[in-house]
Amino acid sequence: MAYAELILTGGRIFQGLHEGFAEALAVANGRVVAVGQRDAVRALAGPDTKHIDLAGRLAIPAFNDSHQHLLPLGLTMGQVDLRQEVAPTLNALLQQIRTAAQHTPKGQWIVGRGFDDSALDVGRNPTADELEAAAPHNPVFIVRTCGHVGVANRSALALAGVDASTPDPSGGSLDRDGGQPNGTLREHAMKLVRRKIAPPSDTQLLDAIERAGRYLQKQGFTRVMDACVGMTAGMREIAAYTAAHQTGRLPVRTWMCLAGNPDGIADAAWAQGIRPNTGDSMLRYGAMKVFCDGSAGGRTAAMTAPYLQGGTGMFIFPTEEFHGLLAKYHRQGWQLAIHAIGDAAIESTLVGMEAADTATQPLAGRRHRIEHCEFTNPNQIARMAARGIEPIPQAIFVYEFGEMYLQNLGQDRAFASNPWRAWIDAGLHPATGSDAPVSATDPFRNLHTLVTRRTIKGTVLGADQRISLAEAVHAYTWAGAYSQFAEAASGRLVPGQYADIAVLSRDIFAEDPDALLETQTDLTLLDGKIVFNRRD
Ligand SMILES: [Zn+2]
Repeated sequence: MAYAELILTGGRIFQGLHEGFAEALAVANGRVVAVGQRDAVRALAGPDTKHIDLAGRLAIPAFNDSHQHLLPLGLTMGQVDLRQEVAPTLNALLQQIRTAAQHTPKGQWIVGRGFDDSALDVGRNPTADELEAAAPHNPVFIVRTCGHVGVANRSALALAGVDASTPDPSGGSLDRDGGQPNGTLREHAMKLVRRKIAPPSDTQLLDAIERAGRYLQKQGFTRVMDACVGMTAGMREIAAYTAAHQTGRLPVRTWMCLAGNPDGIADAAWAQGIRPNTGDSMLRYGAMKVFCDGSAGGRTAAMTAPYLQGGTGMFIFPTEEFHGLLAKYHRQGWQLAIHAIGDAAIESTLVGMEAADTATQPLAGRRHRIEHCEFTNPNQIARMAARGIEPIPQAIFVYEFGEMYLQNLGQDRAFASNPWRAWIDAGLHPATGSDAPVSATDPFRNLHTLVTRRTIKGTVLGADQRISLAEAVHAYTWAGAYSQFAEAASGRLVPGQYADIAVLSRDIFAEDPDALLETQTDLTLLDGKIVFNRRD
């Protein structure tokens, strides 16, 4: 064997859930070539071999964010930040808008992102009038943390032609005070305003991919799924990803899931010859996204039983149309990635998938995915396991939205949400991710939530659904690769796999779970090359 290019020693190497720990690892040609006892691996060292001393730190397979929106994340990193950490009160939120207005020419859009009405001091959305007072010379549109609800100011509503006579569009609704729209737009109603906002340029799209990708590298990620390519800028997003890859500006391996709603890019992509499971190790076409419902926090997820405040949420499409889309994309060979959060939406998704299962096009082996999949019942879990339909939840939702689930659904349903233990015990392979920019990509907060089930206020949301730290890391690495048909090459540190490695600032397996929150990624390796070094 040729000399190793790189050898890691001096700390534990977590190889994978079933492989356990090793003392040393060697890399050649971008792949892991040996892993095991220190002396045996060191024997592969040659004169030019580089050495990394872990100094008691931990090396793990690099993280894989199995459901996020890389390109929108990069775009929103340039928008007004209204997240709870930055704007905990209505006044602070409005101040952020006022500050943005000072730096934005009259008439230009101000777009903000990440507020959460349930966490704000006033416990409600800002109004069109409040946003207007903060930025009287600019149209303003701010989007709630879930991405399913937005608020426009009066100028933006006027530009969009929204007034008391505007009906609720199908699949959406406008909140009204005494008949007048008060600024809050739900689901498809957001489009009324969004279509007036100038779309990002090609350069901005490419910059966004690179910006978000570099940000992820700093957290130890080398692989992501962009869960709805085309949702922001149509086919130009495919062009931007392709250009990013060709010019060396795609920082993370990206599994593209195309926007498959009728206003998405499924047909345009197909007409251009784009086919599932094509591409290379950095950029692949994988799945097709269809939305079935909304979010549990926004009370738009479709439930079989009403929310405590009333209503059972909403379906985005009539059942027949929804099942028709599933059947079509299944026949075309796409992996289905269906957004379904409420138990009624998950039921409709399963019925649609089961109906698409034929002798010539069986479901088996297709690894169809239910994105988020938060409120599953035991019958649904059994059917998913029988057909290899995988849940793709976001661990961090329990932390960020768990309190809202308690408020909206009560203890029994909130505690039974995101049933990780039940899924794994049923033989399913849940992967995890952030749904960024919906939630934070912070892998350590995600891991901490999986092992503690603690919400933002410290409530334990169903202790019986906790999983072990090794299972949590497995979900974040191997299961992510599995969900992207990449487990043969990614997700573990064994000979033959990509040397995609994260070196963490401490050995998280040797400490109690709260130490996760003090942990950072020190080094990220992609193909055996250091792409992030905290000391640089
Ligand atoms: Zn998403």
